[in-house]
Amino acid sequence: MPEQYLFIDVCNRAEAYQAAHPEQRLLRLGVGDVTRPLPATIVKALQQAAGELGQAETFRGYCLEEGYEWLRRCIIDNDYAPLGISLDLSEVFISDGAGSDLGNLSELFATDNTVAIMDPTYPAYTDANLMAGRHMIYLPCHAQNGFVPDLPQEKADIIYLCFPNNPTGAVLTYAQLARWVDYARANHSVIIFDAAYEAYITQPGIPHSIYEIEGAKEVAIEVRSYSKTAGFTSVRCGYTIVPEATGLRAMWLRRQCTKYNGTSYIAQRAAQATYTPEGKAGIRANLDFYMGTAHLIKSRLQEMGYEVYGGENAPYIWCKAPHNWGSWTFFDHLLQQCQVLCTPGAGFGESGEGYVRFSAFSKREDCVEALQRIQKFI
Ligand code: PLP
Repeated sequence: MPEQYLFIDVCNRAEAYQAAHPEQRLLRLGVGDVTRPLPATIVKALQQAAGELGQAETFRGYCLEEGYEWLRRCIIDNDYAPLGISLDLSEVFISDGAGSDLGNLSELFATDNTVAIMDPTYPAYTDANLMAGRHMIYLPCHAQNGFVPDLPQEKADIIYLCFPNNPTGAVLTYAQLARWVDYARANHSVIIFDAAYEAYITQPGIPHSIYEIEGAKEVAIEVRSYSKTAGFTSVRCGYTIVPEATGLRAMWLRRQCTKYNGTSYIAQRAAQATYTPEGKAGIRANLDFYMGTAHLIKSRLQEMGYEVYGGENAPYIWCKAPHNWGSWTFFDHLLQQCQVLCTPGAGFGESGEGYVRFSAFSKREDCVEALQRIQKFI
């Protein structure tokens, strides 16, 4: 296991550079954190909820570990019913974001279970399972397979899939996702489907939820978050669907009741506000803005002759390093010559070597300037 979490490593290098060159302005296109302010209606919901806690008549203490019914109902009605997916309230679990659940879900499984993980991947799943001491199968994703992993050769008990993908920006078609569901059903595996970037899908014909695939409720847990959808990286709220048919719902509830005392009331009220007409419009405007930035980064890099992927259904641009450089070499060139920060692909796994990731969450003006500096560097 790497000694440090990837993004800490990147930050440390950036800080060391900045300390040595205080006169330079670093442009941060690395970490995938949102930068646009929350829509006004969501801020109002946060303020109102905080106000309620200051009045005897509306004060609240602990909520159910699985979250308030009004939010779980909103999720079923707004996020799943339009896709033709029916869920029971008891299958929806509100969380403090996808990150915790993606790691914690592994507690439902024996430590001798084998885990299949896409390579490159968002590092949290790998690290959580390595910490638990599990055997890992890495599924290489590269340009030749369109960054879509092939089915594992050896039996995988737990499979983490992330689509739209961080870091490559790849998506799966219905047929490609159905192959995974079929594999899981045939092998008694469980898929943990990370749909944190579902709201960024722009292309038609791409599944937004794994439950759009027949039979998926028997084998899949879906994890979603308001972080990237609604700008909640600091508010902290997300949710996880554990269908009864997986046989894991009661066990997850038992685990949560013991180790998780529920998501903050204020955060849940803010999440509820994302489903109002004003909330939806505000969120859409932010998503469109980020995707505008993604298109800008992708098209400019392409014009400069770079080989780039992603940026169509995800806010990430996956860029091949020139001259067959390794990821960290390109990272260092961009840092030293252009004062531009990206994330080295090798940090996401072996198959990410030779690539870097640019994030479209960065400020638009910083991206424009970064692209000008990269152009000059060429
Ligand atoms: N999943 C993926 C693929 C992510 O990129 C992130 C955050 O960057 C998360 C999950 C965690 O998000 P959060 O814990 O903020 O909901």
